Amino acid sequence: MSTTDETTDRRAPIDFTYRFQPDDPKPFFIPRDWEDASVYLQGGNHLIVRFYEACRRGAYKPGSRPPIVEISASEATGLPVGDDGLPVQMPFAVVLGCSDARVPTELLFGQEFNDIFNIRVAGNVLAEEGVGSLLYALRSFVPESAHPGGRSLKLAAVLGHRGCGAVKATVKAFQSGPTAASIFGDPIGSIVTKIAAPALALASELLDESYGAGSSSDPRFLSCLVEMIVYLNAAWGAREVREWVDGEGPEIASRVGVVYGVFDPEDWRVRSRPATSEDPAPETFAAPPKDLEGLRAFGREVLARLRPPGS
Ligand SMILES: [Zn+2]
Repeated sequence: MSTTDETTDRRAPIDFTYRFQPDDPKPFFIPRDWEDASVYLQGGNHLIVRFYEACRRGAYKPGSRPPIVEISASEATGLPVGDDGLPVQMPFAVVLGCSDARVPTELLFGQEFNDIFNIRVAGNVLAEEGVGSLLYALRSFVPESAHPGGRSLKLAAVLGHRGCGAVKATVKAFQSGPTAASIFGDPIGSIVTKIAAPALALASELLDESYGAGSSSDPRFLSCLVEMIVYLNAAWGAREVREWVDGEGPEIASRVGVVYGVFDPEDWRVRSRPATSEDPAPETFAAPPKDLEGLRAFGREVLARLRPPGS
């Protein structure tokens, strides 16, 4: 049965393929610059979005082919090998994402072994250990001299996601007042505190400003509030990452781009701002805001796109 036939036969399997071609392997992906790395990740997300759409439809669109992630010889064979006898680690991106089981980084970006240096923490917050991991990645994988002729790290991305449990817990903790005080006394409190300022504080302020005082604690606005915080938290996280990258000096700062995006477990697409009916697939990544005023402007844009109840 040909691929074309499969697209019209709803009993056919809906493939998402990892492929290695021994006689003609894909060249090992070496991004020219951070924009190249960013485009590559976006392309990987589009592959998985197409797969998910096909699963929902029961088939690929007529004339389309199942998405394929090609594996290079370097990825398949684990070469080059380092002094310790193991494949040399050569990620082209570091991604700070949430621990949520519905947000598997490599899969949702269509990437492979040795592609992404992952930092996954509930709420994709950057605590001390996360900063340590980030700095390790920057110092180990960015300088060209670290991998002569090989691949260096070019991109740092912060990935939030819709429906984040850590964000919901943060809203709940602040809305229930003193009864939630115990949460601040244990390690979960450190995550809540990171999400609260500035993301929750700013989202609440903007909701109250647009829809009247008390809107941010009105249950009808809860999903809107959570959604806003998810975007603001990812954008602000990227701003923090940008600061750490810049702090490593001009060589690293000039080589590494920093972006953020929000993954949607409903359609598997990563977006830099909420979808609207007129703009269902806005750009995947965006650069972080420069300061709190930039974050506030972004928050207003997010709120306008969300259309809360009664608007
Ligand atoms: Zn989450």
